[in-house]
Amino acid sequence: MGKAEPGNIKAVKGILRWFELISGLKTNFNKSVLYSCCVSEEWRRMAAANLNCKSGEFPFTYLGMPIGDSMCRRKPWIPVIDNFNKKLAVWKAKSLSIGGRLTLLREKNEEQRLKEVLMSEIVLSSQPDQWSWNVDAANGYSVGKAYSMMVGQSRILEARICKKIWNKLNPTKVSCFGWRLLLNGLPTKSNLQKRGILLEEEESICSVCRRNVEDENHLFAQCNKIQELWMRCYKWWGISISLPNSISLLCEAHSQGIKKVVSADVWFFIFLVVTWSIWYTRNKIIHNS
Ligand SMILES: [Zn+2]
Repeated sequence: MGKAEPGNIKAVKGILRWFELISGLKTNFNKSVLYSCCVSEEWRRMAAANLNCKSGEFPFTYLGMPIGDSMCRRKPWIPVIDNFNKKLAVWKAKSLSIGGRLTLLREKNEEQRLKEVLMSEIVLSSQPDQWSWNVDAANGYSVGKAYSMMVGQSRILEARICKKIWNKLNPTKVSCFGWRLLLNGLPTKSNLQKRGILLEEEESICSVCRRNVEDENHLFAQCNKIQELWMRCYKWWGISISLPNSISLLCEAHSQGIKKVVSADVWFFIFLVVTWSIWYTRNKIIHNS
């Protein structure tokens, strides 16, 4: 081996044959290509004919990468960059985590985002333009509907709390978690059962106390072990309050600060951190026993 001699071509063929007998993996010479360096083109063609394969020249492309070209130059990288751009263009956003999507969204050019928002709202119609009252499109505007829209507690509460959740001081993963918690979007056992992922009744039992069905209200507010945790946390801050028994009331209780003790932002941050830690520990119990 080592020299460009006909005997060595035979040796290579023999090695590949032995490999085939040992591993059961056959070399398809018709589909193979022989490349060479430091030998004449004529010799390479002769060797390729002996091996019953094709004769190839550098540079060639293997798995999208140019092989045998000078990678210090810009030109060989152009097909690689084009390939990346092509893949990224059809990149499915759903394969990203919520945190990843948020980062991507934040990093997008503001002008581009504005354009997208404006374009998405445009609906071309052959009809003349007219005013529409979206709250009640069928019956049109009424004072009663406008009043209920303005004082609708849930809408005001949600906007106020969403603002706190998306506070820049919160770590992204905690904000994402709080947002899902508020929208009842966490994969609690109760939610998984509703989606048909957990089918057995026993599978939906709370992993912390192993007594009740695990939904958001139970896991974060009603579970006796979790209540103990909240009480310890309040005691640590020197606060004495009765514990709300639902996640929305707990969230509401943390949305305003406590005079001379803790500011509204810190108090809400504590709510997010404690609920996030409960969720983290609950996942550890389930996945790591
Ligand atoms: Zn429990």
